Amino acid sequence: MAKEPDMKPATVAAQALGWIDETTKSVAPPLYPSSTFIRDEDNQYRSGRNYSRADNPTFDQAEAVLASLENGAGAALFASGMAAANAVFLSCKPGDHVVISRVMYWSLRAWLLGFATQWGLKVEIVDTIDLAALKAAMRPGKTALVWIETPGNPTLAVTDIAAAAEIARAAGARLAVDSTVATPVFTRPLDLGADIVMHSATKSLNGHSDIIAGALVTKRADEQWETIKRIRIQSGAVLGTFEAWLLLRGMRTLYPRVRTASANAMAVAQHFRGHPLVEDVLYPGLTNFPGHEVAAKQMQGGFGSLMSIRTRGGERGAIATAANVRIWKRATSLGGVESLIEHRSSVEGPNSPAPPDLLRMSVGIEEASDLIEDFEQALKAAQR
Ligand SMILES: *Cc1c(COP(=O)(O)O)cnc(C)c1O
Repeated sequence: MAKEPDMKPATVAAQALGWIDETTKSVAPPLYPSSTFIRDEDNQYRSGRNYSRADNPTFDQAEAVLASLENGAGAALFASGMAAANAVFLSCKPGDHVVISRVMYWSLRAWLLGFATQWGLKVEIVDTIDLAALKAAMRPGKTALVWIETPGNPTLAVTDIAAAAEIARAAGARLAVDSTVATPVFTRPLDLGADIVMHSATKSLNGHSDIIAGALVTKRADEQWETIKRIRIQSGAVLGTFEAWLLLRGMRTLYPRVRTASANAMAVAQHFRGHPLVEDVLYPGLTNFPGHEVAAKQMQGGFGSLMSIRTRGGERGAIATAANVRIWKRATSLGGVESLIEHRSSVEGPNSPAPPDLLRMSVGIEEASDLIEDFEQALKAAQR
């Protein structure tokens, strides 16, 4: 590849770095479904490829785009967000102490408290929005990893990435950030001092609710990164080639999709703040939201497309509201072009930080007024 011209991130995404297939001159990238690659006559693999559980040329462009958007030294695609996150924890050693955010993706917390704890990790849950609590939890020499999610799903709790990076570094630990909700459009954790960024690429990166995928981006191509890539190969956590191709296509519209969805989320949040049928609106873009100041410092250009609304009328009121939507879709997941709504505490169970009256809302790219009117009529219908 010739030296890339200087491009802003939105241009990098739209053109997928501007790569052109050298053999066919195609602008849209080729898809290489091959599971295996030819060996040279003298038994070498000079192409650098041998088997697609290790690597496939379809990954190259998507990984290069992600590394560029996050300003990292390298990126790796995984079979899912969970597979990507697991690889980071499995790159620690049994006996290591790891600190995780209280508000985080529930399925990963369940894996950490179950499998990872049995495997030997000492997992400590900390409310990482409280920096003093995070500092107090660090055990210098023993803490290998701090894992934060910001904004945290589903209460949108905001952790200060730069401050968490300082605290982790001072104790000799790495900082990993689940930046699925923020997206590289609004936050670049590696620039703020994080060592690793994780994405559920199932969400905004792909954006069309039609693949399961994950990604990691590293600040440095160091030994730990080699370990993580080896875990991907050995555990078979690699992404399918068709999914990698779809992900690259999805990422071309990342900026306009995410900017529109974030503006819609702001409009929905502002409309329902102080609404008589609403207890609270949780959205980092609202100036009265507890994490707003930190969010404004580390999120540029928007506050994301995920929000939660606590309805009046407790759990019953929330579920009845979700039952009455016509345009919002009652489904799990987030970051797609269509708006989704979900009663979160019944999904997450007893350990959930989600109050029973909370509806998590992933805002899409529809007309904002349709979303507002539909949720308004659902709130009213739930009163009957
Ligand atoms: C969905 C999600 C995950 C898990 O990703 P999968 O692709 O479903 O495995 C992790 N973190 C966050 C914040 C998520 O929303």
